[in-house]
Amino acid sequence: MSIESLLIKQARLSDLRRHLKAQGAAEAEMCENGKRSVGQVEHLLMGGGSCIGDVYQGWKDCADADPYGEPSFEEIWEDAVLEGDVCQHCQNVRNLKKQRMQAGRELAGVRAAITRVGRRLAKEGTA
Ligand SMILES: [Zn+2]
Repeated sequence: MSIESLLIKQARLSDLRRHLKAQGAAEAEMCENGKRSVGQVEHLLMGGGSCIGDVYQGWKDCADADPYGEPSFEEIWEDAVLEGDVCQHCQNVRNLKKQRMQAGRELAGVRAAITRVGRRLAKEGTA
């Protein structure tokens, strides 16, 4: 892959990540559960007040009670989704976060490739 295409890919992935992050923040604000607890600042700061925060708290309580039989957060989350305890916005938040992490992994790969090109150029004395 040419250095130009690597640089273009890096720029696109950076923009994509920024876009996904902004989208995730916007979705988080629209949480239907969060809307019910407007004004409860402490609750929100504790990570509650959103479906994700509530599921997380439930998972944590469960893990504290039985650290060895602890189910993964993902399992608890899937259950909560099936039970209808999670609003669409919070599901979007999690999906967007997964996409952002994927873009982050790709970005790390592109940066590593750029570094390899840089090392080669430095060795060849062309930079
Ligand atoms: Zn929600």
